[in-house]
Parts: sequence; C-alpha cells; structure tokens
Amino acid sequence: MLGQKTLTATAAIVEVNGRSYAPPKRPTVIIVVDGFDPAYLQHGFDNGTLPTMKSFEETGFVAVADCSIPSTTNTNNTSIVTGVPPAVHGINGNYYLDAETGKEIMITDASLLRCEPILGAFSRAGVQTAVVTAKDKLLKVLAYGMAGIQFSSEHAHKTNLAKNGIDNVEALVGRGQPDQYSADLSLFVLDAGVKILSRFGPDLMYLSTSDYVQHKHAPGEPEADIYHHAVDTAVGKLVKLGATVAITADHGMNDKSAADGTPNVVYLEDELNARFGAGSVRVICPIADPFVRHHGALGSFVRVYLREGKDGGAMRAFTRTLPGIELVLDKEQACRQYDLPVDREGDFVVFADRTTVVGARREEHDLSQLAGQRLRSHGGLAEQKVPFLLSRPLNAQYSLRAKTKALHNYDIFDFALNGVT
Ligand SMILES: [Zn+2]
Repeated sequence: MLGQKTLTATAAIVEVNGRSYAPPKRPTVIIVVDGFDPAYLQHGFDNGTLPTMKSFEETGFVAVADCSIPSTTNTNNTSIVTGVPPAVHGINGNYYLDAETGKEIMITDASLLRCEPILGAFSRAGVQTAVVTAKDKLLKVLAYGMAGIQFSSEHAHKTNLAKNGIDNVEALVGRGQPDQYSADLSLFVLDAGVKILSRFGPDLMYLSTSDYVQHKHAPGEPEADIYHHAVDTAVGKLVKLGATVAITADHGMNDKSAADGTPNVVYLEDELNARFGAGSVRVICPIADPFVRHHGALGSFVRVYLREGKDGGAMRAFTRTLPGIELVLDKEQACRQYDLPVDREGDFVVFADRTTVVGARREEHDLSQLAGQRLRSHGGLAEQKVPFLLSRPLNAQYSLRAKTKALHNYDIFDFALNGVT
C-alpha cells in the first residue's frame, strides 16, 4: 500500500467533452496494452500466464469492448484519453490527406486535436497526473495540457525535470533505455509505472505500450506468452500498491498471410488506377508509420481520394469485387457508421477482411522488413474487439450499464473513475 500517501484530488467532479468524471478515490492507473487482441487474453486465461488479469473475473470486471475505427494506435489512444470518438476529437489515423493542400500529413503532435484530454482536465483541477508511453510520437497528444510526469521509454535517456516532470528515469527503472524495436520498450513503461506509483504516488496515471510483440507473435507463441506474462506481473504490482487498475487496448491484431506465409495484400491504388486511368485516385493508409517497420505500412483499412470528375460509384462497385475486401463505404456512410470527422475523411473508405490487408501502390510498401515472418496487422473491423478489464468490482449503476449498453475502449476512464466500488 501507499503508506502515508494522501490523494491530492479535490472533491470536484471534472467535466470534459460532455462527460463527467469523479476524482480518483484511490490511485488509478489506466493501461493501454497496444495490440492486445482478446485472443491473447483468452489464451493467457487458458494457459495460466495471466493470473492477475484472470483474478479480475472474481475481484473486478472482465469484458470485451469495441475500439474506434480505423482500429489504429493514434486514433484509439486519442479516443481513450478524451473519452469520445474521432468525430469529436478529430484524430482519425496516423496519416491523412489535407483536402485543401493535397499534402499527406503525418500526425505527430496535438495540432489536429479538437478537444481536451481527460488527464489535462484533471491536472488543471489539481489532481496529480502522470503519463508514460512507449512511442514518443504519442506523448504530445496524451499529455496535452497536463502538468506532472510525462515521458516516453523511447526517449528515456533524455528526460529532464523541466520538460518531463522527472529525470534519471533509467536509474529509477534500473536499466537503460530500451531499443525502439523491442518488447522492453513496453515493459520499461510498465516497470516505470510501478516505480512512479510507489515513489511519487500520482492519483491518475496513464501507461501506453507498443504493439511490437503482437505484430510479430501470435497467441500461444512463447515470445507472446513471455511478454503478456510480464505485463500481467506489472499489473499485479500496481494492484498490490493499492491502485485501481483498468486495462484496455487500442486495437486487436490478426494474421494477414496465406498458408504459404506470403501476405494477402490488395494494392488498391494500383488496382483502381489500372482500371480507371492513371492518377484517378490516391489511396492513404492511416496505419502508415515511418517509425514502425514491422507491418510494411499495411493494415486492413484505407481511404480513397478521387481526382476531380471521377466516378466514385463505379470505383466502389469495382473495389467490392476484389478478393479480401469486406466493406466499402462512401464518406458520409463511413462517418455516420463509425463516428468519424467528415472533413478529414476520404471520398470513400475500404475495409479488408480478417486475413487481408489493403495498401496503396506496391512500391510504397516494403515487405522485405518482415524478414520472412508472417504479416500480422490491424486497422479493420476484425480488430475492433479489445479487452476491457478493471481490478475492482463495478458498482450497481455501472454493472447495469455494462449489461445494457455497448462498451467502447474510450469508456475506460469513466468506468475506472465513476464505476468501481
Ligand atoms: Zn497500436
């Protein structure tokens, strides 16, 4: 337990983005395990490698929720920290095409964010907050408007008190900054979270990992078991320290290769331009991420932008005939159905199925980086389900709500702060 630590939280309820959050009754830790498909959870429950999370079936709450579409990292971390869908917060992928300038823009800061994160609102209300994330590119959105501890394990060696609210993070955790492409990039986040909770006792902490392991290893592979067991061990330590721990994911993960190991890919920009004329469309992959080499920028969702005068109806009809394509929606339908911001949407959107990814031009996707491994990725509807776990039982109101209303991963702050006994 935290000994003499008393919460700095005042009694005030925080109102942000149309939702109300009670101040934390005890230290509260929200963990977003990147790429934590429910299949990993089930596997870990079955083979005993997730004993702490399994114990939440008795002592807390275990369910499966929907993530925001597209099922990508930026979109969903932003949904979770703001408590609202992309139609409200504005971040609909890692990459988007600016309709006015025609430029392809990578989202690396909070300039496109249209509302305030819950952490920033609590921080302003005097609650002690902390954020640790694996990838530095997420930090500016997650910690937007927030005072207190905030850093990425990717830049652990660069932390300084003025900028990050903490320094000597490597000494605190007891090891050096992990490699950008390693399981430890994530485990470092969780180990830092345990140390921060025991030493500084923030009231509300957000920990976000990377999906390096899940992109490489299916449920049941030893590397996946070892990693998720280590996550579970850190969760156990946070619970022992007296925290309410809430766990969800930004998206699931599926195998996208054929039986022979080659990826199932539809290069949609090539297909459409071959059929309807060179330069007819530009396809944008919102999963694209120059810092990430493990999925070749291929996921199961893309946005298609038409050159002026082109017939979108004919292109959508043709796209539906391509093998592995699950769903094609025009801009308005997509935004209505999946709560997306209309002014940042393509002319139409395309979902590939559970075993297929969809890309732009063949030359833009470097699959040599897979180095012979099967392609595992996300972005589509088959990766929409994510775990939704709480270390403490729900109160009567939220127990009823969980049974009667659809759960989203962006309800996790609500449940952790308002919904547990
Ligand atoms: Zn992710």
